[in-house]
Order: sequence, then structure tokens, then C-alpha cells
Amino acid sequence: MADLSPGVASAISPLVRRIVAPNAGPLTGAGSNTYLVGVDEIVVVDPGPAIASHVEAIVGCGGDRIRWIAVTHAHADHAGAAAALAERTGAELLAFPAIAEGLVVESTEFGVLAMHTPGHSPDHVCYLLEEERMLFSGDTVLDGSTVMIAPPEGDMAAYLASLERLSSRRLRLRTIAPGHGRLIDDPAARLAGYLAHRLEREASIVAALEAGAVTIDQVVDAVYVDLHATLRDAAAATVHAHLIKLAADGRATGTDGAWHARAA
Ligand SMILES: [Zn+2]
Repeated sequence: MADLSPGVASAISPLVRRIVAPNAGPLTGAGSNTYLVGVDEIVVVDPGPAIASHVEAIVGCGGDRIRWIAVTHAHADHAGAAAALAERTGAELLAFPAIAEGLVVESTEFGVLAMHTPGHSPDHVCYLLEEERMLFSGDTVLDGSTVMIAPPEGDMAAYLASLERLSSRRLRLRTIAPGHGRLIDDPAARLAGYLAHRLEREASIVAALEAGAVTIDQVVDAVYVDLHATLRDAAAATVHAHLIKLAADGRATGTDGAWHARAA
């Protein structure tokens, strides 16, 4: 199994190589994954953070065969190196909103489809490598760290709709290549687990409101057991995202930081 050491290009499938960026951390896991798709003509999916050694590693691997740079979303750990890499290679930059849906790369070897998958951010796009049914999921599905849905940019209702869409059997996904972490070889089970986890959390937030929690902090205390202090802000953002969705669903009301359950 290819490892996640930064700066090393490892083949993860016949058409795809991965280079992990040297930006490991609590929200980036082992580091951001940059994928090079293709042999004679290459699309770089998520060039990663603007770190010179990482750009060098990408150019060292793909050289002048890099024709396209496709970013999943504008966050700096995914797209930070896009401008530098485009300048070095002359590759065409592909990003939302110019691309959102449909065939965006067509080479002699492969085709890549874009799917607009908002939720983590409004501009998020996943890419499907048709030949291998591999989904480049950016920050929509991760391995080894939690997807942040933080309002106002993060939208829980949109996120759940995106997960539902990716769960469609018609996509015939074989693998998910996440923005952080290892290749996921059980896409259907992973997506079902993600959906179940979010719906469970939503249910426990409703239960916390019904038990008398009013502020986001009180909901966090009721829902998250043994929460590490460094993760408290992330938990509060996640709860906030759920509360906004519950309000839109007519299951909660919230004004001036006071939230209440509403009978369905
Ligand atoms: Zn992100």
C-alpha cells in the first residue's frame, strides 16, 4: 500500500499518482493530496498548498505533460499552488464557477467529469475519472479526519444533498480518492456511514434542545462527550450548521443565540 509520506509520487491506480503535500495538521490529516491523472497528458487534481517544494515535486513528476489543473474548491490547502503551477506549466486552470457539471477534460486516454457538490464550501466540485470510476472528493469525503461544515460558508443541507448524490448507484464508483488520507475502496459503505453519522448527530442535537439546551455551547456539551479543547470551535461550528438546517426544516427555531426545538 502506497504510503502518505510527503513529496513522494506513488501510483495508486493505472492512471493515477498521488503526491502528499508537506502540510500535515489537525484539519489536513497527513497533508493535502495532489493527484496526477494520465500518462501522456496529465490533469493535476488539487495542486495543494503554495509550498515551493510541493510545486517542484508536482513538476518533477508531471513535467511538460501537465495540461490541466483542476481544483475541487478554493481553500488554500487545495488550490493555493494553482497559480504557481499554472505559471510553471502553462496548464489550463479548471475551477468553479467556470466548470461545475459535465465533461471537463477529454484526453486520448481518459475523461474527467465535474460534479458540483456544495456543502463544505459553496464552490466545491468533485471529479470523476470515468475509466476507473474513481472519484476525487476534495473535502467532501475524507479519510482519517472530519469534514468541516462551518457556517456561513458551510451548508449542512447542501452537504447532505451532495452526499446523497454521490451515493447514487448509477455513478458506479469503485474508489474515492479523498483530499486528505488514503484511497477509499468501499465508496458505498463509506458514503452510507457519512450520511448515517450526520443524521445521528442531527438527532442528538434535537434531543439536546428538547432536554433544555439553548445555546450552541450547551448543545456542544450535551452532544460531544470527552471533547478535546482544540476541537471545541469545530464542534460549535458543526452544531451551528446543523441548527441552521433544522431551522430550515421547521424542526428548530433560533434567534439571538437561543435555540429551541419545534415539534415536527
Ligand atoms: Zn476545504
